[in-house]
Amino acid sequence: MKTIFEKTSGVEGVSFGECKLGDFLPKELLRKEPIGLPQLSELDVLRHYKELSDRNFCIEKGFYPLGSCTMKYNPKVNELLASLEGFANLHPMQSDEDSQGALELMYNLQEKLKYITGMDAVSLQPAAGAHGELTGMMVIKKYFEVKGETNRTKVIIPDSAHGTNPASAKMCGFEIVEVKSNEKGQVDIEALKSLLDENVAAIMMTNPNTLGIFEEKVLEISKLMHDNGSLLYYDGANFNAIMGWTNPKLMGFDVVHLNLHKTFATPHGGGGPGAGPIGVVEQLKDYLPTPVIVKDGDKYKREYNIPHSIGKVRSFYGNFGVLVRAYAYILMMGSNLKLASADAVLNANYIKEKLKGAYDLPYDEPCMHEFVLSGEKQHHQGVSTLGIAKRLMDSNCHPPTVYFPLIVHEAIMIEPTETESKVVLDEFIETMLKIAREIEENPEEVLKSPQKTPIKKVDETLAARQPNLTYKG
Ligand SMILES: *Cc1c(COP(=O)(O)O)cnc(C)c1O
Repeated sequence: MKTIFEKTSGVEGVSFGECKLGDFLPKELLRKEPIGLPQLSELDVLRHYKELSDRNFCIEKGFYPLGSCTMKYNPKVNELLASLEGFANLHPMQSDEDSQGALELMYNLQEKLKYITGMDAVSLQPAAGAHGELTGMMVIKKYFEVKGETNRTKVIIPDSAHGTNPASAKMCGFEIVEVKSNEKGQVDIEALKSLLDENVAAIMMTNPNTLGIFEEKVLEISKLMHDNGSLLYYDGANFNAIMGWTNPKLMGFDVVHLNLHKTFATPHGGGGPGAGPIGVVEQLKDYLPTPVIVKDGDKYKREYNIPHSIGKVRSFYGNFGVLVRAYAYILMMGSNLKLASADAVLNANYIKEKLKGAYDLPYDEPCMHEFVLSGEKQHHQGVSTLGIAKRLMDSNCHPPTVYFPLIVHEAIMIEPTETESKVVLDEFIETMLKIAREIEENPEEVLKSPQKTPIKKVDETLAARQPNLTYKG
């Protein structure tokens, strides 16, 4: 049988040669008609993908202050290490004996993450932050089941939380109870107290929270929760603010996930791959997913025998390539991780102070690694936060996170990270101040943006209702 391509093709990219599959597959499963794929040469295909990659905005192209996403520079040496043959070509079904190097790396990474978070045991399996949340909540659920406290069906979540928190808890079968924030943008202790009863399993918190504000009452909160027999879950997406300065254990948390792709510098965006390892305190160790990587004498192995394990949450052992990159980053940084957090916090405060006159700053507090402005003032001039974001795109800048957290109207959430120079921060500040002036003087002009991007200003309603998903070169 000749290949389907060749029969109809004018141009040919790859010739697969004689195909013998037809000898093995049942006749009724064989394709009768050509599949109708585009007929392109290798060079055509290459140009197509190059063109697509040129359209993509990335950290290598410009400033990327996408709040909560920690778009820091991803050192290229990590790519080199992850592509080493022994890592990249290792088959996950190979025996422990044959995989000692990879297992050692995973074991060492578990140990580093234990140290960094203060937790007593770590699982590297979850494939992203949200997946870590789900895994952590499954651990909490199983823990209460084994204890016979099946009455604990409620999970408390602040109104500033990332949407994945309630989603993960709900997927685990918990009922979500919202606790409101006070005027300082922190969990309202009195409101929290009024929600506590014997049915509360846990609270899920992010600290610093999504407003970039440190929850000063976190020790009081953890005492309240533990006195109530409940547990505390730490969403570690904002870990870039605190590395080496404090940790979730010191704050009284029992379960934590980290977003390795954010804090520990592995390329992300566009859906992955990521890694969301979880750490737990001693009491919850026996509930982690299997396998956990253990050290037995001077050998490393995958341990499946964990008494109350929730089982597997991911095929094989997680996104191994991401683990290699994060481990390389941690080794390379060493105690400089602490400086990275300090610089991330300094950079955010610098921008905040420069912009707070021109834009509303609903919570005027010292911030951690990010802060949230409001485009309310500009909205009165007829340009929404979305308009500001689009104007920024004409200055080779990725827009900040917008309309999140939900408790701030017209939210503009800015996270510069530690890897940007003062020159870049100053350029960004200049651009934001210029946009504020333009909105005062000539809002119509601002609304014409973006003009310099591959796709210019679109009709949003039309784009949502009749998306044109066909690529035309
Ligand atoms: C990014 C983020 C998450 C989810 O992490 P993913 O890795 O994208 O699944 C959860 N909470 C907060 C606060 C985040 O910023």
